[in-house]
Amino acid sequence: MRIIVHNDKCQGHARCWAQAPHIFVLDDEGYILPGNLEIPIGEQPLASRGARSCPEHALEIAPTPAPAG
Ligand code: SF4
Repeated sequence: MRIIVHNDKCQGHARCWAQAPHIFVLDDEGYILPGNLEIPIGEQPLASRGARSCPEHALEIAPTPAPAG
């Protein structure tokens, strides 16, 4: 699973970080760092919870595309 980070929507609430600080890394001002997140299987429940906790909908959960071929 992948989390698409919409930095333009992030308002620095840090709710994602409160759920999983090792997944959702923030800058010095509390805004999430740019770059989409690849989530390993074992981290997916926690990552989903963190993404859903964002009140700005800045964290979009996307299924990992199936391998080509
Ligand atoms: S919860 Fe949302 S708005 Fe708050 S830091 Fe995380 S991504 Fe940004």
